[in-house]
Amino acid sequence: MSVPVRVRFAPSPTGYLHVGGARTALFNWLYARRTGGTFVLRIEDTDNARNSQEAVDVILSGLRWLGLDWDEGPLTGDANGPVKGNVGPYFQSQRGEIYRRRADELKTKGHAYEKDGALFFRMTREPITIPDLVVGDVVRPLTDREVLDPDWVLIRSDGVPVFHFVNVVDDLEMGITHVIRGEDHLSNTAKHVALFRAFGVEPPKYAHIPLILNLDGSKMSKRDQGASVQSYVDDGYLPEAVINYLSLLGWSAKDVPELFTKEEIAPRFELSDINRANARFDLKKLEHFHFEHTRKLEPKRFVQLGVEALLKAGIHTAGFPPSYVAAAQLTAQEKGKLFKELPIWTDFYFVDDDAVVFDPESKAKALTPTALPLLQKLGERFAALPEFNAASLEATLKALATELGVKVGALVQPCRVACTGRLVGPSLYHLLEVLGREKVAKRLARIAAAS
Ligand code: GLU
Repeated sequence: MSVPVRVRFAPSPTGYLHVGGARTALFNWLYARRTGGTFVLRIEDTDNARNSQEAVDVILSGLRWLGLDWDEGPLTGDANGPVKGNVGPYFQSQRGEIYRRRADELKTKGHAYEKDGALFFRMTREPITIPDLVVGDVVRPLTDREVLDPDWVLIRSDGVPVFHFVNVVDDLEMGITHVIRGEDHLSNTAKHVALFRAFGVEPPKYAHIPLILNLDGSKMSKRDQGASVQSYVDDGYLPEAVINYLSLLGWSAKDVPELFTKEEIAPRFELSDINRANARFDLKKLEHFHFEHTRKLEPKRFVQLGVEALLKAGIHTAGFPPSYVAAAQLTAQEKGKLFKELPIWTDFYFVDDDAVVFDPESKAKALTPTALPLLQKLGERFAALPEFNAASLEATLKALATELGVKVGALVQPCRVACTGRLVGPSLYHLLEVLGREKVAKRLARIAAAS
């Protein structure tokens, strides 16, 4: 019988959730879901100087936004096992007792000794082979310095345990079966393997994921565009688009459709399909995924996200009938824009008819002296329509263009700018239908009257 899979995401609270970290979390989540295993979240916060509640919250809210739910929390009181469910995470800062016990164990076994107030690990003098599920067998020869003195510090003289020690102790205590993490940790892994063996256990299986680089091949740093998950939240990407894109950054399998949700892809997620080459982050591709997922989104959710985006931009929709708000948002859905841009596409629905704000360039282009009498006529025809809907509006506008011997655009553009303030926006006939007879009449009349 195989041992149930237990994986973990173990971020240090650095103040932001890096896209590489988000992808590591995602791969762990996918593997846990694919195997019916457990996904543990562990905050590696032993470095007190860098710790803050905000830094932890950034990680938690980023993971929640992506929908990467963790499965258990720490033991509480006399509960006879970790608590299941969306509780937790584990915090290393709360596990000092465990580290002290494990340090004593190493001392007792002769694997650790004190020197200058610090606790040192008696490192093996043999080269270590790391069997890695992605990278293959990695042999890490000792550096010249390590040949002379391979021992390293477990607990510093100020009492703070170092990353390698707590990381291994926790993986051991938490029964982690697979360590899936960024390739930047491969160089630490010999130390980790040696430590596991000193505790008398075989290390977990390792899968080191290639890094995510910028398009130009440089390392992604905090300031690079797209490096922080919060930037996707702020720019109004759909989390499902980010998930879809991140899944494909360093993982690929045969016959996987381009668009998928994490639930759909989880059954297909094998560690052996993780690529060996570094991935390159391409914001254009992410935008493409956003576009596709947005167009497929359940209308109710699109409306809700649209309303939130407008509110962030200071546009309140609460005073309008819910059916109007929904219909207005939905005219923008097929455009697949980032939610940050949504106010540009739908703000005009929520202003007074005499307060439409005109984009100066659009106004100069479309609301010309020749256009104004045309708008006057168009307004009259629209007012006379028995049914005010996209089809009848389109037919009327086109018929008038033919009658007046002008191009359709000579009516479309002034009408659009008069009603919305801009040359770009949702499909004209649909937006007119949603605005409704009265608002359209007032907006056209306002412009015509200015002539
Ligand atoms: N705290 C480490 C980091 O954020 C985790 C390393 C690991 O996953 O083992 O890089």
